[in-house]
Amino acid sequence: MREGAHPRELWAEAAGLGYLGVNLPEEYGGGGGGMAELSIVLEELGAAGSPLLMMIVSPAICGTVIARFGTGAQKRRWLPGLADGSVTMAFAITEPDAGSNSHRITTTARKDGEDWVLTGRKVFVSGVDIAEATLVVGRTEDARSGRLKPCLFIVPRDAPGFWRSRIEMELQAPEKQFELVLDDVRLPADALVGDEDAGLLQLFAGLNPERIMTAAFALGMGTYAIARAVEYARTRQVWKDPIGAHQAIAHPLAQSHIELELARLMMQKAARLYDEGDDTGAGEAANMAKYAAAEACVRAVDQAVHTLGGNGLTREYGLASLVTAARVARIAPVSREMILNYVSHQSLGLPRSY
Ligand SMILES: Cc1cc2nc3c(=O)[nH]c(=O)nc-3n(C[C@H](O)[C@H](O)[C@H](O)COP(=O)(O)OP(=O)(O)OC[C@H]3O[C@@H](n4cnc5c(N)ncnc54)[C@H](O)[C@@H]3O)c2cc1C
Repeated sequence: MREGAHPRELWAEAAGLGYLGVNLPEEYGGGGGGMAELSIVLEELGAAGSPLLMMIVSPAICGTVIARFGTGAQKRRWLPGLADGSVTMAFAITEPDAGSNSHRITTTARKDGEDWVLTGRKVFVSGVDIAEATLVVGRTEDARSGRLKPCLFIVPRDAPGFWRSRIEMELQAPEKQFELVLDDVRLPADALVGDEDAGLLQLFAGLNPERIMTAAFALGMGTYAIARAVEYARTRQVWKDPIGAHQAIAHPLAQSHIELELARLMMQKAARLYDEGDDTGAGEAANMAKYAAAEACVRAVDQAVHTLGGNGLTREYGLASLVTAARVARIAPVSREMILNYVSHQSLGLPRSY
């Protein structure tokens, strides 16, 4: 992980065992399960210290959207590869001038004969270099009403006019982030996923799995950190007993363990609702699960680093880099504050400030 190389071997092995496509339909080579199963895979990989960030994007968002809304041809073209891990797909929604306010995205698709022509900019998109294609969220110009509406396009990595430049991040992770420029990218009619008019519904069908999987990512990392800290606290002795006997060390670890367990329950609830087809119920639960897991993860990592004293900041013990990594789950794919906004408005019925 420190070298930042793509964990191809791990990806291939997990794929070979059927883990990466466990949520995708069996007729396209998947496992026929749902987010409940896929989130277990990601959490367990993270708990073992080897999370695969692209699982959030490739099988969970892109695979789900194509499986639920793609045409027959799109399913045949993409799902078998996404299911067996031989194909990876990135997902691009964030824009520099829109950020958390996705309603402000300006990447625009216009019709030119049978083709679509895409123009716009995206930032922080993960894994574009290793992905065969990127699922790009844009808007069509609706000629009849003048309104703009979200639409999803599959853009191959080598499409002319599709430029990427790496953003240098202070993250020790194999997956890199990119800024994208779409400069009149010409795409065939079938690059549009599903129906032009089902935009928002399709988008949310992908965003709930994204939140559930980010919760799994955070839970895995938090669990890993606490396990390392407990291991250390059991054996490190500077007075008469191991440091784990001091409640100042033990209690915060116990607290983190409880918080991770609680967040896992919420993630399981969100996954179950989603897998049962309750998109609305899953929306609230997935947001809450992402929030709870990210906060539990940030606290768990902080406490784990502290438990190791000076060793918490050494390379050898490998925990210090998690301090930055844990923050990702707090800001992406939707920030802590935007989830609190969502719960304030949607769950509690409070007025909006924006
Ligand atoms: C490692 C990493 C990987 C990523 N991968 C992808 C990817 O693959 N694809 C992709 O499309 N995007 C990706 N992102 C982008 C990510 O989804 C965004 O960073 C996130 O949505 C926040 O947007 P922003 O960074 O523009 O922050 P901003 O929207 O500028 O927010 C900045 C701060 O202001 C706060 N804020 C904003 N609005 C409000 C409000 N109304 N009320 C209260 N507080 C508010 C936010 O909570 C935040 O703390 C990734 C980001 C990271 C860090």
